Amino acid sequence: MPRIDNDIKLDFKDVLFRPKRSTIRSRADVDLTRSYLFRNSHQEYTGIPIMAANMDTVGTFEMAKVFAKHLMFVAIHKHYTVDEWKMFATENPQVVPYVAVSAGIAEGDMKKLAEIVEAVPDIKYLCLDVANGYSETFVQFVRDVRAKFKTHTIMAGNVVTGEMVEELILSGADIIKVGIGPGSVCTTRRKTGVGYPQLSAVIECADAAHGLGGHIISDGGCTCPGDVSKAFGAGADFVMLGGMFAGHTESGGEMIVKNGKKMKLFYGMSSATAMKKHVGGVAEYRASEGKTVEIEYRGDVERTLQDILGGIRSTCTYVGASKLKELGRRTTFIRVTQQLNEVFTPQTTEH
Ligand code: 5GP
Repeated sequence: MPRIDNDIKLDFKDVLFRPKRSTIRSRADVDLTRSYLFRNSHQEYTGIPIMAANMDTVGTFEMAKVFAKHLMFVAIHKHYTVDEWKMFATENPQVVPYVAVSAGIAEGDMKKLAEIVEAVPDIKYLCLDVANGYSETFVQFVRDVRAKFKTHTIMAGNVVTGEMVEELILSGADIIKVGIGPGSVCTTRRKTGVGYPQLSAVIECADAAHGLGGHIISDGGCTCPGDVSKAFGAGADFVMLGGMFAGHTESGGEMIVKNGKKMKLFYGMSSATAMKKHVGGVAEYRASEGKTVEIEYRGDVERTLQDILGGIRSTCTYVGASKLKELGRRTTFIRVTQQLNEVFTPQTTEH
């Protein structure tokens, strides 16, 4: 007989923050920087813990140059060559501390990772990323990378349950990437029926990670600045965004003009588009688990960043947190059946 877990699991859309009495005068007074000490690399971090996903449309060097000015991270996608890395690092040494090099478990990934780290010794972060972080092969891969790179901070995922968070941390990872199925261009839930509502995944995985002195990234499913705040309120140490950073000047991919409108392509890293681009097609044994969408060009990412940071600062003032660090402690979520008034939806102008 199948077992059914009857606890209700929640997504960002199922809750809102309950406002609390506050002494903060203005959102300008809210400090969004955080400092962490990582469990296994023993390295320190200070910055605004929001990052662009390692997808080839948003995890670009151009994005990293803008993000680093705000002490924010970009997980660079894994398709840049070693020479491109060298050139980027020579021209932008100040950005290198704010990027992570990505690798999967495909053949050659470990070799390329080692080559990049050798070519750019100032790299501090490695992002080990597979769709399914539950495999023994992946756990072994994390162990191998830790054995080889003792002082690099390792991000690893994706998983959604506490026991796997613990296993990856004990295998050498510092920051666990949490999220299966919530992504804007992800079709895993449709194709496989597997997943976990993101808010609950973050609450449970943060608890597991923090118990061991580890950290987590909430990866995927944020649709608006309020969702990013909810991820932090739920206990995420970092929040990773794909779709919210897509369609900008700094995003990868060509600009397309359609019916007089400027558009950019955004696609999942296991979509047919990505597989055609990088490995020459969708392998027979696997289904594509990502969508391809055309989105309207949104200008420079700086304005979107300001919008997100402004939103989180404002969340903090509503709940009385003068620092992002206090947001978790000041959070009471209330369950809701509706979060937005959509009478004027779709409406694209927010400013
Ligand atoms: P978003 O912020 O767009 O909601 O989610 C971004 C995240 O979606 C990425 O960081 C990654 O974890 C996930 N993702 C990216 N591409 C794909 C894909 O093709 N398939 C699946 N299942 N997930 C993807």
